[in-house]
Amino acid sequence: MSLPKSLQKLIAQFDKLPGIGPKTSEKLVFHLLNRPKEDLKEFADSLLDAKEQITICSVCFNFSDSIPCSICKDSNRDKETLCVVAETQDVQAIEKTNNYQGLYHVLQGTINPPENITPDKLKIKELQQRIKKDQPNELILALNNDIAGETTSLYLIKLLQDSNINISRLAKGLPSGSEIEYADDITLGYALKDRKKI
Ligand SMILES: [Zn+2]
Repeated sequence: MSLPKSLQKLIAQFDKLPGIGPKTSEKLVFHLLNRPKEDLKEFADSLLDAKEQITICSVCFNFSDSIPCSICKDSNRDKETLCVVAETQDVQAIEKTNNYQGLYHVLQGTINPPENITPDKLKIKELQQRIKKDQPNELILALNNDIAGETTSLYLIKLLQDSNINISRLAKGLPSGSEIEYADDITLGYALKDRKKI
């Protein structure tokens, strides 16, 4: 017996999400359908509200509900240090370590030619302009310890070698192939504290 069309359609939507296969999609859909209608309405409304209210900070390109974002406009943060990350989730992971007081720059991805993500698709030009304008003292490259992260770090090091900025990278505490987003607070905290100057 095949599932009703509306269910198939819903399962297909969940299946598009990262890290969720067809089995989990089915499980989530059946779980949701067993919940009261009010719960589902709240779920759907929160999703649309988030989409409507969230914008992208024009300074650091982090998701935010204000421009500039709360980190960029916080006068207590150290404006001399800029931490380059791939995604908003990485900002969250680093904030959770309570080990970092500087500002961020979210590239919105990493260089990955097989997937057609070339440097011009990322916020690299904006990073160069920002460094030129604000002249921070240190740039920390906090990119994933995988091929795309490594390619992006090397690209940025070469690109910025003539600009007057100290570049450092996270210490090698993170396992190879690992994603910053999933690193535990303590490991990531150490990797940040023991960062290596290039
Ligand atoms: Zn910002």
